[in-house]
Amino acid sequence: MSGSNESIYEVWIYVVQYIQEHFDISEAAMDMWIGALNLKSIKGSDVLVEVKTEFQKSIIDEHYAALVQEAFSHVLGFPVTLRIVSNEHHPNIPPVPADDEFGAYYFFNRMVETGDYTFENFIVGSSNNFAHAAALAVATHPSGNYNPLFIYGSSGLGKTHLLYAIAATIRENNPNARVMYTRCEEMTNDFIRAVQKELTFDEFRKPYRMADILLVDDIQFLAGKERMQDEFFYTFDYLHNAGRQIVLTSDRPPSEIATLKERLRTRFEMGLLADIQAPDYETRVAIVRRKAFLLKMDLPNDVCEYLATQLKTNVRQLEGAVKTIHAQYMIGGNAPTVSIAQSVIRDMRTNQQPTPVTIERIATEVARTFNVTVDDIFSKSRTAPIPKARQVAFYVTRSITGLKQEDIGREFGGFDHSTVVYALHRVDQMMRQDPTFRNMVNDIVKNLSDE
Ligand code: ADP
Ligand code: MG
Repeated sequence: MSGSNESIYEVWIYVVQYIQEHFDISEAAMDMWIGALNLKSIKGSDVLVEVKTEFQKSIIDEHYAALVQEAFSHVLGFPVTLRIVSNEHHPNIPPVPADDEFGAYYFFNRMVETGDYTFENFIVGSSNNFAHAAALAVATHPSGNYNPLFIYGSSGLGKTHLLYAIAATIRENNPNARVMYTRCEEMTNDFIRAVQKELTFDEFRKPYRMADILLVDDIQFLAGKERMQDEFFYTFDYLHNAGRQIVLTSDRPPSEIATLKERLRTRFEMGLLADIQAPDYETRVAIVRRKAFLLKMDLPNDVCEYLATQLKTNVRQLEGAVKTIHAQYMIGGNAPTVSIAQSVIRDMRTNQQPTPVTIERIATEVARTFNVTVDDIFSKSRTAPIPKARQVAFYVTRSITGLKQEDIGREFGGFDHSTVVYALHRVDQMMRQDPTFRNMVNDIVKNLSDE
């Protein structure tokens, strides 16, 4: 693999980040000891790290080697053996050869365990056969005609399942492939972090641009995020021009993602659009059977059919019912019957309130859209665009929760009634005057109420 030094460097960044996030090490110690490590090579499961002096080696061996090894294993995705050598005794460690085998082991930390989300476990019916066929084609022949593949459909109909299945298949066929899976929100968070830290963006861009296959889940969250859209546009073009496969999922087609910039929309539509509909009855029965099978549970036909009649629009719910029945069986020994299924579904229905949309979530979503921090929203700052973002947060809170103006002011850290009244009025006005702004606000509301 070419560019291995670059890849090594990339791994090292992740390792340091992992250590910072998972272990309680002072900044001084980070600098002095972790900072002394110089990653030389990764060959198979052997990680070779160099330090300058024997003294450093002895301290690091005693206090830090175990956790550094753990961090490497985690980042690479397989157990490694860490070897630390000091330059004092090995002055001539050869540099990493340009094309070592490293690429074969590269594994993006973010790539999730694909688990049961395989093609084999995906039940095909008329509602999803096109999306399934397209996903399978991309998985077996990436970077062919369908680039990007854009899969869309309502929540709980198997989009993430297909993305994982693509990832699993590609990795199986080609362990060298660098498969990058990310949810749009994670990518946006990375981006915001890069903005806040005033990085050169290289740190943000690089992992995405190194991907042979980029899978972005729930791309509809790009709505309203102008700078993220610009950034993604360049990454998209970069990968596309380099002939790398891109697969995107969304809860709606590109044309319905509000405030999606024209040039991105065009690109999203230039490959293949594949939609997923709610499954028909036969498909639902087959899905129930498959889920029960995966749980090693014998589910009588009448129970399978009952579930499939009752839960029609969301496979996630269907699966939830099977899991609950399974749990009751495991815990209480109640063999599954239709009457148990009935009570499970009754409970599901009564518990089915919309997930509470907290003020925090609203603030987070709005902050992201405006590229400000959550703290900014709660602050009294008058620096643009913070006041506008805050006004939108009030407005969104009002639309979603119906909270009274006094309460909204209080929830956001003590704004008086008149400030909130003015904000609501102002947002209303701007929405009437500016369609882009209106779409953006509506989109925030939609994103938050969809879950
Ligand atoms: P989405 O990403 O579209 O919201 P998911 O991919 O998370 O939905 O699917 C929700 C659940 O339903 C998952 O557990 C998935 O395995 C299951 N599922 C959806 N469609 C199918 C299918 N056709 N066959 C088997 N399982 C499915
Ligand atoms: Mg999903």
